[in-house]
Amino acid sequence: MQNIPKWVIVMMTKEGFKCPHCDKLFNAKNIMSLGIRHSVRDVNKQVLFIEYFCISCKKQTDLEFVEMTLAHLAQDIMADIEGEIADYIEKKIKKEDLSIEDMDQSEYDAIINEFYDLKDKEVSDEQGGRNLIPKETEKREKVVKKSKITLKDIKEARKELNKIESHEEFLLLLGMSQEQVDEYNIKKGK
Ligand SMILES: [Zn+2]
Repeated sequence: MQNIPKWVIVMMTKEGFKCPHCDKLFNAKNIMSLGIRHSVRDVNKQVLFIEYFCISCKKQTDLEFVEMTLAHLAQDIMADIEGEIADYIEKKIKKEDLSIEDMDQSEYDAIINEFYDLKDKEVSDEQGGRNLIPKETEKREKVVKKSKITLKDIKEARKELNKIESHEEFLLLLGMSQEQVDEYNIKKGK
């Protein structure tokens, strides 16, 4: 699946999540979908949920995570993507001895396009050539992403992300309240 916030994978790996049916260890590839919905435990709360399909025993488990809004999830995913884009640009600049100061918008756009093409390829390889997203939706999303991120945004996002020292700070930066972060820490037994 595309666009799983990195911290979700890190957290599940760290906590040693296992399939409750067969005890097989967590594999990020088993995440079939992820999104925001009303909690089954409390319909007044919106939570991050994951549909986990274990390849070993072919059983699905629905997981509920922290309370989160769609806007927070989107910010989270964008932060990951911006980080990846910045890394990609940095590598590219180093490899081809380019200068970001001399780069004009069209050269920059070309690199961003290249990045998304590679990412799309990764995803379709992962899905074994299947495409789970209808073509039209995918196209529309891609255009929005491309036009939204600017060279300046990336430099700034990078700076912000480098400043973060803990996951707690990250959650606060994403706009979560201190109460939500505390609740998250309690759940995690911190
Ligand atoms: Zn299993």
